Amino acid sequence: MSVSLAAFLYLISGICFIMALRGLSHPSTARQGNTFGMVGMAIAILTTLALPGVLSYEMIILGILIGGAIGAIIAKKIEMTALPQLVAGFHSLVGLAACFVAVSAYYEPAAYGIGTKGAIQVASLIEMALGLAIGAVTFTGSIVAFAKLQGLVSGRPLVFTGQHMLNLALGVLLIVLVIALCTTQSDTTFWLIFVVALALGFLLILPIGGADMPVVVSMLNSYSGWAAAGIGFTLENNLLIVTGALVGSSGAILSYIMCKGMNRSFFNVILGGFGGDDSAAAAAGGYDGDRTVKSGSADDAAFILDNAGSVIIVPGYGMAVAQAQHALREMGDQLKAKGVKVRYAIHPVAGRMPGHMNVLLAEANVPYDEVLELDEINRDFSSTDVAFVIGANDVTNPAAKTDPSSPIYGMPILDVENAGTVLFIKRSMGSGYAGVENEVFFRDNTMMLFGDAKKMCEEIVHAMDQL
Ligand code: NDP
Repeated sequence: MSVSLAAFLYLISGICFIMALRGLSHPSTARQGNTFGMVGMAIAILTTLALPGVLSYEMIILGILIGGAIGAIIAKKIEMTALPQLVAGFHSLVGLAACFVAVSAYYEPAAYGIGTKGAIQVASLIEMALGLAIGAVTFTGSIVAFAKLQGLVSGRPLVFTGQHMLNLALGVLLIVLVIALCTTQSDTTFWLIFVVALALGFLLILPIGGADMPVVVSMLNSYSGWAAAGIGFTLENNLLIVTGALVGSSGAILSYIMCKGMNRSFFNVILGGFGGDDSAAAAAGGYDGDRTVKSGSADDAAFILDNAGSVIIVPGYGMAVAQAQHALREMGDQLKAKGVKVRYAIHPVAGRMPGHMNVLLAEANVPYDEVLELDEINRDFSSTDVAFVIGANDVTNPAAKTDPSSPIYGMPILDVENAGTVLFIKRSMGSGYAGVENEVFFRDNTMMLFGDAKKMCEEIVHAMDQL
């Protein structure tokens, strides 16, 4: 394939990726966005394989078969609720790939046309050192994020004195080492960059609490994009540079949007040591045991909902765990048929990944115009008869507004307590992800509906049929 045809096809592929990002910005166009992404990637891979630099296909095909098989098995098996840790796990591989490319370019520079060992062009050394450093930070950082999200290590922030100074010192050391590599081209300096960056990735993510993991995963996504862009420079592949930059900047924008959603600055997230230990909180139930709550049955809930003029449904992580979205949609349809105004309120960090609730509701064919963002609907709770909270907890917790010592302090929340009646479906008095008790459970206008979210919705649908 000629170089100009390849450049043209890469351009088409780059446009497809931009269209993919555009499509993914709204649930109604997300499928189309995914299609653009797949087409763009197919063009990119086929074009790359047809380039004259590819000498043999055996290893490539073997790699595609092994990697493709692993990917297909994971995609089939993975639970929706485990996607954040899967994404973190995949990012670690992108980081590792960047490191491998840097190592091979450093030891075989002639193969990349960037000089000879010991006499590599300075610009290439900078690119490869950056690719190596960002790749290594992404690698260990993503592994820590994976371990925290998977519950392999505690979600509690691990903070110690002098931590920020240590990270700063390691960051400065990395810059010094990159400069030293450019001047000396010493193998020891090259490997020192790798080791220091590995340590930095580990130390940067370890102190961050579980509740901030969404921002971290998105930030690591951004890092992995920049690492890929770095590889693109080393491999002189324009598409990889463009794609890496798209992933890097969209990840950074998503991190910014999430920080805004939690009313925190990016630096506060990175340096904050925020969030609770979910396992400890779960053991304690996040509940002091002395206070009483009002609990009701599906029949009670059906009666209250049936008599409401307007209902706002607040889905959370528990809805995803129970896969209750279809039963919930059925309940919503039933209410609408009875003339009740039904809307869904989505908190920016409800569930365990950005857009988690939107994806599930879209899967259940909930109309997009009934699904509203926090800013669009929060004021309406005070004029709404029933807030129907299904498997959500932290995103409704007023401690975020009132308790400066709370780990979620400052996060905007859905003001469900302002509704006439608040119904909470959950299985116990257990706390949410941040490990803090929710005051709303104890309010006079709250009724707890203890049980699995899907089962409870089905029972409510059945009970409403009988009314
Ligand atoms: P929470 O984790 O705060 O609460 C979920 C609630 O669902 C729990 O209290 C649990 O109570 C209940 N639940 C679990 N399983 C079921 C079930 N089968 N049926 C009924 N209820 C169930 O979720 P939210 O969505 O309110 O908040 C999200 C939290 O996750 C935030 O703290 C956010 O920062 C964090 N986070 C968000 C990410 C994102 O990108 N969206 C990523 C990672 C973390 P019980 O055990 O009593 O049933």
